[in-house]
Amino acid sequence: MKREDYITWDQYFMGIALLSAERSKDNNTQVGACIVDKNNKILSVGYNGMPTGCNDDEMPWDREGEFLDTKYAFVCHAELNAILNYNGPSLDGATLYVTLFPCNECAKAIIQKGIKEVVYVSDKYADSPATIASKKMLDMAGVNVRRFEPKGQELIIDL
Ligand SMILES: [Zn+2]
Repeated sequence: MKREDYITWDQYFMGIALLSAERSKDNNTQVGACIVDKNNKILSVGYNGMPTGCNDDEMPWDREGEFLDTKYAFVCHAELNAILNYNGPSLDGATLYVTLFPCNECAKAIIQKGIKEVVYVSDKYADSPATIASKKMLDMAGVNVRRFEPKGQELIIDL
C-alpha cells in the first residue's frame, strides 16, 4: 500500500513559494513565488527583495514618506524575481505560484513571458488600483487565475 498523506502538487509548489517568502528582509510583506512547467518541473523561484548588489542594510524598507525614502522605489517583487532568475529558454505555458496576488507591473511581465496560469494565496489588496489593473490585464490576456485552496494540513519543518 502506498503512503496516503503525501502533499499534492499544488501544496508542494505553494509550499516552496511560502518557504521562499521566508527569505524576504521586508518587515511588512514577505512574498514568495515558484514557477513550474507543464510537467510539474520547477523552473524558478523568487521572493521580494532589493536588486542584486543593492545593500539591504542601506536601502529603505519604509512604506511612508518621500518616494525615494520608501521601499517602493527599489524592491523587486517575488514574481518578477522568479521570472528574471530563470535562465532557461522559455516560460511559455508555465504556471506561477505566488503567495500574494500579483501587482500590475508583475502582471505585465507574467503575460509577456507567456505564463498561462497564476495560483495565489492572499488577495488582500484586491481593492487597490494595482490589483484591479493586474486582473484586467490577466483576464484580457487569457491567463488563468485561481486561488490556492489550503486543506488545513499543517507541516512543521524543523530548520
Ligand atoms: Zn509586483
